[in-house]
Amino acid sequence: MMTVVQCWDDGVTTDMRLTDILRRHGAKATFNLNAGLHEKNRTLSFVYEGTEVRRLGRDEMREAYDGFTIANHSLTHPRLDQMPVEAVRREIMEGRSRLQQFFGQPVLGFAYPFGAYSETVMDLVREAGHVYARTDRGVDDPFPPENAMSFHPSCHFLAPDLRLRYEKAKAHGVIYFWGHSYEMTTEAMWEAFEETVRRISADPGSRWGELVDLFKHRD
Ligand SMILES: [Zn+2]
Repeated sequence: MMTVVQCWDDGVTTDMRLTDILRRHGAKATFNLNAGLHEKNRTLSFVYEGTEVRRLGRDEMREAYDGFTIANHSLTHPRLDQMPVEAVRREIMEGRSRLQQFFGQPVLGFAYPFGAYSETVMDLVREAGHVYARTDRGVDDPFPPENAMSFHPSCHFLAPDLRLRYEKAKAHGVIYFWGHSYEMTTEAMWEAFEETVRRISADPGSRWGELVDLFKHRD
């Protein structure tokens, strides 16, 4: 039985539509959030392919992510490999503790902003209490990773060969895809993604898993 895991970054308003789809099909997912970047109300973050991307307001976040797993994406989304060590430590530790406090769940996963990390950053992420940390580099056979602090996913959710990778992954047991919901900029993209989720949920050869459980069950 293959385990399918997924995670989504940055805490944006389109996660509302995404979590609605995931709930409807009984899919599990982890959301990588930056505790320091959410105001009471929605805020404009940047423009992606002509569309304004907004972060969710604090007041709607518990409801938006109810039933899903929260992971740390640092406090404010800097490039952690290019900062003084004390600032990196704060980004990692404060990001984690604020998410734990806000969501009332243990935060055990980490995702490197911009996929950027170094030996020092990996050490600090581990010391802060995370059991894995995701990069943005795709690999054919993601689990178990050589180093849990540089856990490479299988691919981005928009990888043109996602379906092929999915079938191939049945031989080794885990597929892990990731992305940002704001990358779905057309109705057709949303529909295609929902169809992917529906197909995975209906596949007797697969089950949705929690990322963190992959690590909890080891040694
Ligand atoms: Zn990010």
